[in-house]
Amino acid sequence: MSSLIQNEIDFLIERAKKQNPSINEKKIRAAFECANAAHEGQKRRNGEPYIIHPVSVAEIIVEMGLDTDSICAGLLHDCIEDTEFDYKAIENKFGTSVAELVDGVTRLGMLRYSKEQEQFEDLRKMFMAMAKDIRVILIKLADRLHNARTFQFLPERKQRDKALETMEIYAPIAHRLGMSRIKWELEDLSLKCLDPIGYQEIVDGLEKQSSQHEEFLGHIKENISEKLGEAHIESNISARVKHIYSIYRKMYAQHKTINEIYDICAVRVIVDSVTNCYNVLGYIHDLYKPIPGRFKDYISTPKPNGYQSLHTTVIGREGIPFEIQIRTEEMHKMAEYGVAAHWKYKQGLNKAGNEQAFAWIRQLLEAQQDTEAEDFIKAIKVDLFADEVFVFTPRGDVVNMPAGATPIDLAYAIHSAVGNRMVGAKVNGRIAPIDSQLKNGDIVEILTSKETHGPSRDWVKIVKTTEARNKIKQWFKKECREENIMQGRAELDRELRANLLFNGFYESEEIQQNTLEKFSFSTLDELYAAIGYGGITVTKVINKVKDDVHKMRRAQEKVERVLQPQPAKKTAKSQSGVIVEGIENCLVKFARCCTPIPGDEIIGFITRGYGVSIHRRDCVNVRNSGARDEEDRWINVWWDEEILDHKLNQFSTGLQISTRSRIGVLSDVAILFAQAHVNVHELSARDLNDGFGVINAMIDVSGVSQLDNIINRIKNTKGVLDVIRMADGV
Ligand code: MN
Repeated sequence: MSSLIQNEIDFLIERAKKQNPSINEKKIRAAFECANAAHEGQKRRNGEPYIIHPVSVAEIIVEMGLDTDSICAGLLHDCIEDTEFDYKAIENKFGTSVAELVDGVTRLGMLRYSKEQEQFEDLRKMFMAMAKDIRVILIKLADRLHNARTFQFLPERKQRDKALETMEIYAPIAHRLGMSRIKWELEDLSLKCLDPIGYQEIVDGLEKQSSQHEEFLGHIKENISEKLGEAHIESNISARVKHIYSIYRKMYAQHKTINEIYDICAVRVIVDSVTNCYNVLGYIHDLYKPIPGRFKDYISTPKPNGYQSLHTTVIGREGIPFEIQIRTEEMHKMAEYGVAAHWKYKQGLNKAGNEQAFAWIRQLLEAQQDTEAEDFIKAIKVDLFADEVFVFTPRGDVVNMPAGATPIDLAYAIHSAVGNRMVGAKVNGRIAPIDSQLKNGDIVEILTSKETHGPSRDWVKIVKTTEARNKIKQWFKKECREENIMQGRAELDRELRANLLFNGFYESEEIQQNTLEKFSFSTLDELYAAIGYGGITVTKVINKVKDDVHKMRRAQEKVERVLQPQPAKKTAKSQSGVIVEGIENCLVKFARCCTPIPGDEIIGFITRGYGVSIHRRDCVNVRNSGARDEEDRWINVWWDEEILDHKLNQFSTGLQISTRSRIGVLSDVAILFAQAHVNVHELSARDLNDGFGVINAMIDVSGVSQLDNIINRIKNTKGVLDVIRMADGV
């Protein structure tokens, strides 16, 4: 035996004793001798003697802190499969426990990740092994970890398969068991195989920034430890750059380069008690501004895998955010080693004092056993592909859709004919809304019917994939031109009216022609049809028309504008008595705040959906309307001269009459209105405290001259102090 290997085993024993002085050195050495003899002459792909592998696996197991039997099983784990040294032989020499562990690991080794359905059956087997003895899983993880460390010696294709399997199955299991250290290493090693360029890009990027990071983290470490020192809190602060795969996922998910990812630094503060965890959090939030919504209390609510910690993200110097994790020593060990921490720090799970820990693991396993294997693979695959969703057809085919996809998307992904005949969907056996979002692992059945009239127009807005959207539009384009034209015309007209562009569009052939040209249609019907089937959005058309109409109006204005606002040329009679610049027969309302009447200087305000509201130019609401986004909505308006000349229309306006409180003033005013043949809508009086009173009146007049006349007559009435128009005094 080479001295190199002898050194390895001596080192292994030494480390194991350090972890746990009560390990059985003799048994471990014996297991090593057997394994060494059994693998005699075998070589690994890199040319090393095979025994290096089991010894390395055993070292990882020692590092995890597992017991003597696990270490022996680690050394012997490839014997049953690859050598003459079988189950019986192991059982005879090392006992049933070691033999069962090796057997379990061997069985797990037979699992092959595949995209076929058999994956579930295999994973179920994996389960059984897991439920029987968790150490089997831990040894298998150690085995995979060492293999992953030497992935580069495999042929390229095998590298990728193994890496994918590691990423998809082993890393998530390590995560489930709370073993973050192993999980990280598995992920990084797999990534290196799966996307070597992406991996190297991050390594190089981190290298370039390393002095920056060191300085940044060093500074933070100093600040925190100074602050905690002042507060007499003992702490162990470590600062690090996050592991490569987590940075990779961030870059991938956010479509960013490494230079654009800020929170790649993390700081960990370990203290002696839970109370101090919360104290430290307080001090840190004193030092740095926390990012709202990023604080997580995993101490009071541990993660399902038992992980406990306080997390907060704060803003450091130069506005760079970084994450801080605060936890106790105990929590830290759990976080690093997960399930294995129970062996590592409590000498296994079999002793009486560890009943509780054992109960916890059993609970974890039982929870996993309850669910079907399908559920488990769903659970462990979750989060790996945040922007994708995998669903099953009833036949068991896996369909990969973008996150947020609906049953309609799926239907069109299967076939356009399925989509076009779709009438509903069942998700996991239950009728579900066709616009519901699909989740990983959903079994989705598309219900179709030959009777259906085809897809609904709303689907275009619901679907997530361009594929489905295009197919739906295709259908509408082909299937129902007449309906498209009607639908499109109704939609366009509605929007034109809402934007006060209806007349502008239909009365100008030039604008119509421009619009058709812009979107490459030759007739209005074609335009309507395209809007109808969703080939073009009505907003696009409206924007074009709006531009043109405004351009035209501005051109007209230039010609017509004089110093005093002048009535625009009119071609039709205004019914309201007001002409609105550029818009004919426009819906007009007189503002209640200032009740304008002919003779008042007026201005219009384009309301949303209620036409143009007419104000006096000196109305407070006009003067106070400084808002920028409203500027465009004020529009020139003029009284229609014919109305002023013939005094045909009546306009409501409000008066406020101040009086000395005197019985009879109200009736005097009422009589005066009657004599003047003025229609009165409202007339009310109230006393003010200091002996005065006020009368409010709402009357109809033809214009300012009539109103002035009436106001003068009221002013001459006994007991009246003053008369003002409503809103004047405000
Ligand atoms: Mn192995």
